[in-house]
Amino acid sequence: MIKADLHIHTTYSDDSTLTPKMLVEQLVSQSSIKVAALTDHNTTQGCKLTRQLASAYPDILIIPGVEISTAEGDIVILGTEELPPEPWTVGGIVDFARQNDNVSIVAHPYREYGMGDTAKKYKFDAIEVLNGASSASANKSAQALARLMNLPGVAGTDAHQQEDLGKVYTEVQAGLDVEEILKAIKKGLVKAYPAKGSIHF
Ligand SMILES: [Zn+2]
Repeated sequence: MIKADLHIHTTYSDDSTLTPKMLVEQLVSQSSIKVAALTDHNTTQGCKLTRQLASAYPDILIIPGVEISTAEGDIVILGTEELPPEPWTVGGIVDFARQNDNVSIVAHPYREYGMGDTAKKYKFDAIEVLNGASSASANKSAQALARLMNLPGVAGTDAHQQEDLGKVYTEVQAGLDVEEILKAIKKGLVKAYPAKGSIHF
């Protein structure tokens, strides 16, 4: 069983101040959340360096990924260091993820740049039901969507600065292994939690 933050932006996103080094140091310095998915906006450029930095520590793990902006809303893909081919349509991205054994996730569906009810038209693997930057009501609506679509619900902080880390996490019934974690998410062996003492949810 591991605890993972499945939505994080580093300085490879143009709106984040969290460097890969700060992220890795945070994972090392606390004992709870030892797995982090890198989901920069429309780039996977930070994955290589961050994984390299993390490789010095056997008890932490970086999941490569990306958050893609589409005309219909944001999509998180976990398990890829490659970008899907353009143009970035929702159907094309979902297909790309399936073909490559990645995990496709509807990011913050009921916030700005979220897909909302449109997500129902596509075959996603999971819904982000707890986003650290969303309101409680937006997260509640996301939970309802996951129930309706019968999809696993995951959590991510959507961190853009160091202080955002740790607010929420996904408990995954898997070991410290990317493939294992991705498979477990698809099987629904996950639960989304707000961190203890969090006042946001
Ligand atoms: Zn994001």
